[in-house]
Amino acid sequence: MRVLAVGAHPDDIELGCGGALLAHRARGDDITLLVMTTGEEGPQDARSRVREQEDAAAMLGATLIWGGFPDGAVSADRSVVGVVQNAMLASGAELVYGHAPRDTHQDHRATSAAVLAATRRASRVLLYEAPTSTGFDPTIFIDLGTSVEDKLDLLRAHMSQVLKNGLVDVEALQAQARYHGFRARVHYAEAFESERFLWELPALEPVADAAEALILRA
Ligand SMILES: [Zn+2]
Repeated sequence: MRVLAVGAHPDDIELGCGGALLAHRARGDDITLLVMTTGEEGPQDARSRVREQEDAAAMLGATLIWGGFPDGAVSADRSVVGVVQNAMLASGAELVYGHAPRDTHQDHRATSAAVLAATRRASRVLLYEAPTSTGFDPTIFIDLGTSVEDKLDLLRAHMSQVLKNGLVDVEALQAQARYHGFRARVHYAEAFESERFLWELPALEPVADAAEALILRA
């Protein structure tokens, strides 16, 4: 499967769907990351955030695309929607991960709106949680199993400055994964709101054969 994950800032994708992306990588899926800004207004210089994002992409075996928009001033206009559409075309995405729409950060809201516009004809769109999400109400869960530690390692390795500034708390992330796991009746889980999710069950037998079998039985 080909997967595209879209985030406003470096680290947003790893925080929101890092566990799912590790599972995609383990399956051998093609992963593309689209990051709208370099996070230059954040607690560390843009160069180290760019490097950390590049390291995270390498750890996930993912292709990294930068949106090139200014931190704090992402809009949901045609140019931003176009960047998401181009990334969908380039990656051939069959599943798109994006920010959940209810969020106190303007860049997260704008990126979410742009993803929802760009994916209006896509069959699978899942929306992830950020530390600034409000009213997040997930219905789709991914069992993290023991890979919760891999997700936390991914974050520890690539978010040193953010962690040092207390903007992200690994203990809280582990507790959040445990809570989502409880809601999903497993131990640790990552959670998503579903904008649209086409579920393709493998066919057990051709429909014509099944109909014939019914006729023979009658
Ligand atoms: Zn962010």
